Amino acid sequence: MTDFEGLVAVVTGGASGIGLATATLLSGRGATVAALDLNPDVPDPLAGIRADVSDDDSVKAAIAEVVERFGRLDIVVNNAGIGAQGDVTANDDDQWHEVMDVNVLGMVRVSRAALPHLRNSPAAAIVNTCSIAAWAGLPNRALYSASKGAVYALTLAMAADHVREGIRVNAVAPGTADTPWVGRLLDSAPDPAAERAALEARQPHGRLVSADEVAGAIAYLASPLSGSTAGTVLAVDGGMHGL
Ligand code: NAD
Repeated sequence: MTDFEGLVAVVTGGASGIGLATATLLSGRGATVAALDLNPDVPDPLAGIRADVSDDDSVKAAIAEVVERFGRLDIVVNNAGIGAQGDVTANDDDQWHEVMDVNVLGMVRVSRAALPHLRNSPAAAIVNTCSIAAWAGLPNRALYSASKGAVYALTLAMAADHVREGIRVNAVAPGTADTPWVGRLLDSAPDPAAERAALEARQPHGRLVSADEVAGAIAYLASPLSGSTAGTVLAVDGGMHGL
């Protein structure tokens, strides 16, 4: 694994789960890392900055603060996201707008604010957190899957637009990962232990994906080791998407 010494990274949703694991890994490899989150309570040496990716002014202010405090921006991990359950009848228009606003437009806002700074970096990379829900056809995830399908397409389009200016855009697509988000879902089930066992059994490798495993894939796509990779959506799902 390469190191990120001297580079500055932003991780949205960096205070929990996959985002926190990614921020911690990049920081441990030498990057200065700002975790942009609704709740920016993060351990040292991460810099927690309050930001709401569904609010353009909040995003612009947070990116400006990162560049002012740390002098540059090299890596953006667009990871903040929210879930939704049910088939296509389950969510009303307001819920559709809310999830698309955070999961898709959130990445657009952060990328829009970051791109002028990334153009000054010799090691610029954007990594989006997609999901195997984008193409696996999971039941009861209509809205969430549509939002991640949009992230998939957005990743390929952004890669095509920006690779010639030296900014690589890629994504990771986790299977069900062991994060506070999934913990909350399990806790709300009638029998959390049975629900966890069912989720584990659904993964071809018999367990949930760890946040650190997703962070490792993100770090790879953010690093020069993947210097010829752009427009790739890397599944981290124990092979689930291929079944
Ligand atoms: P998590 O709930 O543990 O962490 C998400 C973080 O995002 C939280 O700290 C939350 O405060 C922050 N956040 C939410 N809305 C925000 C907003 N509007 N602005 C700024 N921050 C906001 O979730 P996680 O499981 O680590 O998920 C992270 C990403 O991974 C999401 O995009 C999710 O869709 C994706 N993902 C998760 C799984 C899984 O099984 N956990 C699987 C595939 C993809």
